[in-house]
Amino acid sequence: MSHRPGITVLGATGSIGISTLDVIRRNSNRYRVVALTANRDVDRLFTQCLEHRPEFAVMADESAAEQLRNRLHEQAPDIEVLSGLDALVKVAALDSVDCVMAGIVGAAGLLPTLEAAKSGKRVLLANKEALVMSGSLFMQQAQNGGAELLPVDSEHNAIFQCMPQGYLPGSGQPEGVVKILLTASGGPFRTTALDQLSEITPEQACCHPNWDMGRKISVDSATMMNKGLELIEACWLFSVPDSMLQVVIHPQSIVHSMVQYRDGSVLAQLGNPDMRTPIAHSLAWPQRIDAGVDVLDMLSTARLDFESPDLQRFPCLRLAQEAWRAGGTASAVLNAANEVAVYAFLDGRINFTAIAEVIESTLADVTRREADSFEVILEEDALARNCANEMIAARQRKRATV
Ligand code: NAD
Ligand code: MG
Repeated sequence: MSHRPGITVLGATGSIGISTLDVIRRNSNRYRVVALTANRDVDRLFTQCLEHRPEFAVMADESAAEQLRNRLHEQAPDIEVLSGLDALVKVAALDSVDCVMAGIVGAAGLLPTLEAAKSGKRVLLANKEALVMSGSLFMQQAQNGGAELLPVDSEHNAIFQCMPQGYLPGSGQPEGVVKILLTASGGPFRTTALDQLSEITPEQACCHPNWDMGRKISVDSATMMNKGLELIEACWLFSVPDSMLQVVIHPQSIVHSMVQYRDGSVLAQLGNPDMRTPIAHSLAWPQRIDAGVDVLDMLSTARLDFESPDLQRFPCLRLAQEAWRAGGTASAVLNAANEVAVYAFLDGRINFTAIAEVIESTLADVTRREADSFEVILEEDALARNCANEMIAARQRKRATV
């Protein structure tokens, strides 16, 4: 039997992780699961372990790992259960692993994803926050390690598919390309009256019109911070200045992005909005495998609309552009403040429109530094989190006294 690539799925219990395991299930003669990881969802990781039989199961949370160990003891004693960040980093770099799905959400994904890059794996990059925080160093480490960085984010995967033949992310500015059109759905509040935005509930924000995703990225899509993070992600992956990127609202989410060439050609990648397509593409590249995705019916799609984004409605997109232009650790500060503000909104501690306000004030308060080491980046991340948390607490105190 030919060699079946070994896979680690970081964030196996999340939306990306579940879709990844679905693609692997459909192609189990081609791939073998070496490690599955999660934060603390014991029930789901337990079920996934019984089905996919990895060598390692890792829970970030120690007590969750203990519960999983007890439950697997009877039915699958050969699966080694580990815990903590060290173990996440370890299973990203194992010799028996060829390919790592980076599907952890947020800054928590940085170190395990980085480890996969350093150790020369094929890295299926869903975790965009890692690049936003540390793009320059991350790309450098991936290159030094000989990693293959393949984008899973649907837009970046589409751009990659439209790039000149032989082009790989991280290999410099693509020849003949004059513009990248980054499409955005505009989220659930594209047409909501501006004076109603402050009343939006977490449930409404998590109800995306086209995509079924984790809660954090759903809120990011609703504020369009997701597009801001993706703009930064694209600049790093494809070595282009932000002036070469144009954000285009495309409410149907059928065109996943476009690349415009010097000769006037525009290439687009189209498909139903289902993450299993970019996951299958990056997993099998340059081959093509079954992803379980329905074929796109152009006749029932009928219309494709495009419009420009309204920066008054979506201040987070402007903040991301400003952070990118400021350079250094500004993008890491932006990302950290956004994570804190999004979870505060999801917990009902701030309203929807306060997300952008907290990020803007944090960017103004935390001094930008050169992003020349991971230590500096993680320090700035921590400072930004403290600052954003204090602002949120101050807002709550103010709200309690009026
Ligand atoms: P999710 O919330 O559904 O899942 C997150 C996963 O990360 C879970 O398995 C969780 O257990 C794990 N995790 C959370 N915190 C952790 C921690 N501290 N330590 C270790 N593991 C932790 O999120 P998702 O929607 O699957 O998104 C994952 C990543 O992929 C994000 O960076 C997101 O921006 C990106 N992405 C997602 C989609 C999508 O369709 N869901 C599309 C494009 C990009
Ligand atoms: Mg995307």
